[in-house]
Amino acid sequence: MHRSKDYRYCPVCGGTLENRLLKPEEPERMICSGCRFVFYLDPKVVACVITEINGQIVMLRRGIPPGIGLWAIPGGFVDAGESVTDAAAREAWEEVRLNVAINSLVGVYSYTGISSVIIVYEATVLEGVPQAADEVLEVQLFAPSEIPWGEIAFSSTRDALRDYLGKKHPDVFI
Ligand SMILES: [Zn+2]
Repeated sequence: MHRSKDYRYCPVCGGTLENRLLKPEEPERMICSGCRFVFYLDPKVVACVITEINGQIVMLRRGIPPGIGLWAIPGGFVDAGESVTDAAAREAWEEVRLNVAINSLVGVYSYTGISSVIIVYEATVLEGVPQAADEVLEVQLFAPSEIPWGEIAFSSTRDALRDYLGKKHPDVFI
């Protein structure tokens, strides 16, 4: 969680931010000692896709922290003003060079103490050959029974894959 040690100065006037309790039932907020601006920390939104090629799930090995060297699904931060589905499709292109159509929602994942909200869609590949692109070490296709559960980068990846497989491939024991 971000605290005021991460943000020291007011984005409005450049004054010093300090932690204050505004309401007893809420966490402390960062407040500018000059103009009283309240710096609320909103969650970051992450859009991801689960997509298959010939019945195998497209996964990537991350080339950057967090989770460097571990497996994830294509995804990344949604830009302000960008639709979540557009972001999911854009990330699939940027990371694994697949042009995808977004289908249904797999799930929305959030965790106490984690500042991101992760939204995962299932998608259909329209065109492209999977290849490691932006910040990716390697792309691999995994049969549902061969997902590398012990080397998954994020809880949300694990939870989303479980939800997806439970629905689409209930024959696979997880
Ligand atoms: Zn200020």
